Amino acid sequence: MSEEAKVGDDSAAGRSGPDLERREILVPGGHGTAFAARAGQLVEIVDVEGQQVADFVAFAERNRTEWLSTTHTRSAILRLSVGVGDRLESNWRRSMFEILRDDVGRNDIITGMCDDRRYRLDYGVEGHRSCRTNFTEALAPWGIAEWQIPDPFNFFQNAPIHPDRTFGNEIPTGRPGDKLMLRTLMDAIVSVSACPQDLNPCNGFHPSPLMVRIIDPPGDVP
Ligand SMILES: [Zn+2]
Repeated sequence: MSEEAKVGDDSAAGRSGPDLERREILVPGGHGTAFAARAGQLVEIVDVEGQQVADFVAFAERNRTEWLSTTHTRSAILRLSVGVGDRLESNWRRSMFEILRDDVGRNDIITGMCDDRRYRLDYGVEGHRSCRTNFTEALAPWGIAEWQIPDPFNFFQNAPIHPDRTFGNEIPTGRPGDKLMLRTLMDAIVSVSACPQDLNPCNGFHPSPLMVRIIDPPGDVP
C-alpha cells in the first residue's frame, strides 16, 4: 500500500485557509494511490529513481460517469502522444488536466494497463500485482469499481511509434527526479499506479517508487 503523509507547506506560512497545504504521497514501486485534486491545483509526479512508468486515471468528482479519456484526448489533439501544453480530455469532451512540465518527454496513450490476466496469460505468473489491482484498491474508498476504470495515461512510458505504424515497448528514458506537472482543470478523483511490470522493459525490469505532490497555487512551482 502507499505510504501517505501530509506535509505542511512552509512556503504557505503567513497565509490562511485549510487548503494551503502541500500533500506528498510516496508510492512504492508496484503499488498505487488515489486522492482528490481540486480545479486549479497542480499535480506533480516524480520518477524518483528513473525508468518508472506512472499509470494515471481520473474521474470527475461531481459525476463518476465522466472520466479522463485517452480516446477523446487523441481525437482532440490529433496526435498519438501528449506533452507540454496538451489538454487531457474527458469522455464528455471537457478538459480535465493540462500538462505544464514534462521532463521525460515520452508518454504513452495507446496501450492499456497491466492486469492479472496479462501476467497469467502472457507470462504464466499467478498473483502478480498489476496496475488494475492498484487502481481498484486505491479507488475503492470512492465507491469506484474495477469495471469502471478507464484506459490509463501511461506517463513516462517509452512506446515509440515506428514508421510502419507499429509501436514498441522499451526501457523508459526517465532519469532520477524527472517530473511531470499537471494543472487540474476540473475537481477530480485521481489515481496513480507505479506500474508493477517487471517481466518486460516497461519499467526497466525494476519497478521503483513515484512521488506524487498535490500543490495549491499560489505556491512555489518547482
Ligand atoms: Zn502496469
